[in-house]
This record gives sequence, C-alpha cells and structure tokens, in this order.
Amino acid sequence: MSQLQDLEPGSRYDLHVGISPDAPDESALRDDADGAFGYAHSYETSSRYDGPGLRVVLFVSGCLLRCSYCHNPDTWHLKDGTYVSAKQVIDRLGDFAPALRSLDGGLTISGGEPMVQLAFTRRILAAAKQMGLHTAIETSGFLGDRADDKYLSCLDLVLLDIKSSNPETYRSVTGRDLTPTLRFAERLAAIGKPVWVRFTLVPGFTDDPENVDGIARFVAPMKNVEWVEIQPFHQLGTFKWKAMKLEYKHFNTPAPTPDLIKRVIDQFNTAGCRAR
Ligand code: SF4
Repeated sequence: MSQLQDLEPGSRYDLHVGISPDAPDESALRDDADGAFGYAHSYETSSRYDGPGLRVVLFVSGCLLRCSYCHNPDTWHLKDGTYVSAKQVIDRLGDFAPALRSLDGGLTISGGEPMVQLAFTRRILAAAKQMGLHTAIETSGFLGDRADDKYLSCLDLVLLDIKSSNPETYRSVTGRDLTPTLRFAERLAAIGKPVWVRFTLVPGFTDDPENVDGIARFVAPMKNVEWVEIQPFHQLGTFKWKAMKLEYKHFNTPAPTPDLIKRVIDQFNTAGCRAR
C-alpha cells in the first residue's frame, strides 16, 4: 500500500522518481475505485498556457504512451508519483478558486495521462465544476474509450494531442496505435465538446508536410476545434531522460526554426483550421 503524502507545488520540469514504490502498474489500473486517492507528479499555480485564463495545472502520474520526445518521462509510472488524497487536492484548489474565477481561468489536469486514473481525475474535475471553475484535461486520447458521458460532462475543454496523422509515424513516436485518438476526436466533435488540438512539431520526426496536412484535413471540418496549437520541440526535459537512464533519441534534434513553425501554421490555416 502506498504511503499517503502531501503534494507540494512545483513545476512540470521538477524530477520526481520512485516516490511510491508500492504503486500498482499503470497498465493494470481500472476505473473500479471511487477515486478518493491517486498519484500525482506536481501542480503549478499560474499557467497561462494550458487553457483559457489563469490555470492551476495538476500533473497526474501514469501514461501508456512512450513519446520519444516526452519532457515528463517521470510521469509515466504511478510509482514515481506522490500518493495523495483527492480531498487534499480539492482543498488546495479551493484556496485558488477565487483568483482563478476572477481571471477567467480554472483547472487543467495534465500528465501523464489523466484518463489512466479516471475516477481520481473525475472526482477532482467534478469538484472544480462545483467551485464554478473552467475545467480542462490535456490528453493523447488513447484511453478516450474509457471516458463515459459523465466524465466528459465534467469538462469544458479538451486539449487533445494529435501527434501524427500517419499511423506508422504515430507508432514510431509514441509506441501506440493512432486509431483510438482519432476515434476520441470524432466523438468529441459529435457532441460539440470544445477542443484545442495540440501538435508537437519535432524536426525530422513529425514535420513531414504530408503528415501535417493529414492532421489539418482531419481537424478542419470539426466545428468544435477552437484552436490548433503548434508546440515546438524543446530540450527542457532531456535531463530527466539522462537522470532516469532512459534511451533518448533526440539529443541532436534541433528546435524547429521560425520558418518551419510558420510553414506548419500556414498549412493548418490553409486547410481551414485556426492555428497558432
Ligand atoms: S502522452 Fe504525454 S506524458 Fe505520455 S509519453 Fe507522450 S508526451 Fe509523455
């Protein structure tokens, strides 16, 4: 049984490893608990990047993808997270709620993958809604089939990472199948759930014009997609790969140039998306 601990404020770029060695394996976790407890990496209190307005961003542990450029490999396993009560997280969120409301912001749950710990994140999202906060998750959509209508009703916005339109490229950069993500995107479109699509631009890996056009053509007809956000690859998480002794493919991958970013934004806009 994991040891209950306090979750301290921090940053997505803090390294957390081996905090809850008795945690279950994330691939074995199912939504059969009541979500009163869960595993979290950290939280930030003043993001202006992860949704509208000022955000508290909770980074939860557990992810089934293995993106080769992930800047948070210390969120992949529940055992690297801090075992916390949902009540502690909700109480802490309550301290920030008046400021978040007055700055048109809210709560974003990122990771890791929020839908690995479906009951835990649903409990926190529902509490945030009760506080009158705007709610969002950032997700790869890989576990979208797990999210029932009740889960989606706790969300005002989904930040959906579509990492590639080409199934082979998707598998080579994430280790997983692309289909569940596209299926989840279509479901969100069918119910009109607001979405910001996020695309990580990795030179030499995801920047192929055909790959970008494929995402743009898929997304453009979806009226619920408010923005396509280009996320330029960076090396800020590289030190985690080194510290965790993981094999890292991107030591020599450069950040995308302004010209490349502009080309990709133009591709999305030309296809009829709103990109930035
Ligand atoms: S989905 Fe996100 S957290 Fe999971 S491996 Fe990919 S970048 Fe990392």
